[in-house]
Amino acid sequence: MEITLDDLPIRDDLRGQSPYGAPQKKVRVALNVNENTHPIPEDVARDIVESVAAAVLEINRYPDREFTALREALAGYLGHGITAEQIWAANGSNEVIQQILQAFGGPGRSILGFPPTYSMHSIIAKGTGTEWVEGRRDEGFQISPETVRAEIERTKTDIVILCGPNNPTGTPLYLETIEAAYDATPGILLVDEAYAEFMPADQPSALTLLEGRPRLLVSRTMSKAFAFAGARVGYLAANPAVIDALRLVRLPYHLSSLTQAAAVAALRHADEMLAMVDDIKLQRDRIVDTLAELGYQPWPTWSNFVLFGGVDDPHDVFEKLLERGIIVRDLAIPGHLRVSAGTEAETTAFLEALRDIK
Ligand code: PMP
Repeated sequence: MEITLDDLPIRDDLRGQSPYGAPQKKVRVALNVNENTHPIPEDVARDIVESVAAAVLEINRYPDREFTALREALAGYLGHGITAEQIWAANGSNEVIQQILQAFGGPGRSILGFPPTYSMHSIIAKGTGTEWVEGRRDEGFQISPETVRAEIERTKTDIVILCGPNNPTGTPLYLETIEAAYDATPGILLVDEAYAEFMPADQPSALTLLEGRPRLLVSRTMSKAFAFAGARVGYLAANPAVIDALRLVRLPYHLSSLTQAAAVAALRHADEMLAMVDDIKLQRDRIVDTLAELGYQPWPTWSNFVLFGGVDDPHDVFEKLLERGIIVRDLAIPGHLRVSAGTEAETTAFLEALRDIK
């Protein structure tokens, strides 16, 4: 018997919904999901394989539920005096954010976000029964300290989420705004720093504000700068009491022993893994310059991607790029597309195709 989803007794609020996710197409140049497209160094790959192979020999046993070695490695990587007790990790920062909302959000509670921002924030809010409330940004997608304060006072939500640098706009998030938000809310302030490693080197991370701010949570990921998207490792730095709250909602053994082994091995080579970041920033700046030269309007970006306006028919440009084996991101922002910085060759392929289409 052929049945469809609609024939099943699923939750009413899921009826008619589509699963979230960018199209996964086999193309020559994929610049649509902000990955680090540079291949990882061979010696690092070898070390990861050896570590995972050792973990396979114990695969009959459940993994370390507290992923202690990984938390220590992540604390060491972050620096800023952060200790393993302040670290949490999960299968991507998506899962970290989900666990945060499971612990601090939920039915009867609300979260304030500032669109356009990472779509999963509102989707996770919905999935956990947390009310999603939208704040307004200033000119140029910025959020000033005054604006964040006013929006928090207006909406009085239980949680505030800020994304810096912001996806999909690339907009910087300054410490003054984070401090103002923390002081204005009596609740949890989550800063999503998925793209932190692409910020200018002299710009401080929200991690520098953790000391003395127990309601501040900073989420990060190994998926972007660290070239580890396939392994699914996201993490959080926060007060140890916050980590205790996440222990109450996590599924036991949520991080597989293979994931833990792979991530610990990769973190031993953090410098090598991050060696590509400078080149990615270079390619990103090339994209900004060339787009401007072609008459598009690229937004200033602190990330590994560029949002650009001035596209008369984004869907048409998207399709024409796809015909040439290149995929970018077609978003819900009228007249805009988003492209990730690739390797030099991928970036050149994108820019040449765009020139050709123009
Ligand atoms: N936060 C932001 C702002 C992102 O752009 C992404 C990925 N696109 C994530 C979190 C989630 O990444 P992951 O689950 O791979 O850690």
